[in-house]
Amino acid sequence: ILTVEQTIQWMKEIHKRMEVNKEQLTTLDQAIGDGDHGINMERGFAEVVDKINNTDYDTVADVLKSAAMTLTAKVGGASGPLYGTAFLKMATALQDKEVNQQNFKVAIDEALEGIKMRGKAEFGEKTMYDVWYQAAAFLDSEKVEDWQELIEACQATIEDTRALIATKGRASYLKERAIGHVDPGSMSSFYMFEALVSVLE
Ligand code: ADP
Ligand code: MG
Ligand code: MG
Repeated sequence: ILTVEQTIQWMKEIHKRMEVNKEQLTTLDQAIGDGDHGINMERGFAEVVDKINNTDYDTVADVLKSAAMTLTAKVGGASGPLYGTAFLKMATALQDKEVNQQNFKVAIDEALEGIKMRGKAEFGEKTMYDVWYQAAAFLDSEKVEDWQELIEACQATIEDTRALIATKGRASYLKERAIGHVDPGSMSSFYMFEALVSVLE
């Protein structure tokens, strides 16, 4: 379902969204974190795209692995290693495989497991994991052709994080005071899936 060219385009579309929404992500992180999420994401994906523009890739897995390495190396904080792990797990799952719907679904499942392993997060802890969980569940469902449904499912999940107390990451320090605020990582994860849909449609 994804070619090398589309995977490169996916990374570029992610960067576009992080650039446009940098302020928004930072504002969200100012409320329940340390206010750097927009900066982290915009800078991280700018580096990903820069690296991609200067490299030739043979496979989808190679592009994803390159993105993973860059995110882990260049983005500090919690989100860099978490997204780095997600993309690395995806790359590993697709290595030497045909990138069809079934294998892509497995790759997203693996990414989800990677985030869980790294962050020790469960669903409903007000983190990026919530959105990845929702996306993986969507790919498991019958609706896989209707990408707009994936976007809607992710958007609903972002909104659901508002009512939650965080039990992982910086927002957990705030206890009840985190209630009423959307998790910044769930928002950046949403942009990743929105970007994916934009290249698949
Ligand atoms: P930092 O909190 O180190 O400044 P960022 O602001 O870039 O890092 O990223 C914060 C986001 O990372 C949070 O909004 C949350 O979605 C995610 N996050 C933080 N800790 C965890 C964790 N243990 N598991 C999953 N996601 C996490
Ligand atoms: Mg932060
Ligand atoms: Mg930080």
